[in-house]
Amino acid sequence: MRRMTEQRQGERLRRCRTEYARLKARLREVGFIYEGSLVERWVRCGKPNCACASDRASRHGPYFQLSWKEKGKTVSRRLPPEHAALYRQWVANRQRLRSMIQAMQYVSRKARRHLLRTEKSEKVAPKPGDIASSRR
Ligand SMILES: [Zn+2]
Repeated sequence: MRRMTEQRQGERLRRCRTEYARLKARLREVGFIYEGSLVERWVRCGKPNCACASDRASRHGPYFQLSWKEKGKTVSRRLPPEHAALYRQWVANRQRLRSMIQAMQYVSRKARRHLLRTEKSEKVAPKPGDIASSRR
């Protein structure tokens, strides 16, 4: 019975490794990143006779604003419209990167449970990469 359990653990650990390898491969595809966010604004100009004064759909824009954190404070600056596409892409890349890292952490937690539970089993002996980086 114990042996069955170990086999199942080993199978789960293998699945973790496969999933982790898949995430690493995706990670490699991520392009440049930008740490911040891009806000698209539609504004009223303030002229009382302008359509924007009463109609939301007639507001002016879009104007692009870039925000990021600097020493705990949010900093923003207006962006030339022609730069918006690049920043949108880079911000999205960073979001993807973050969600991948979260997924990697999740898979790592699962793998750790399997590894520690079955560390005496030869079938699921840790591979060099599993623990090598914890020592220098
Ligand atoms: Zn206006």
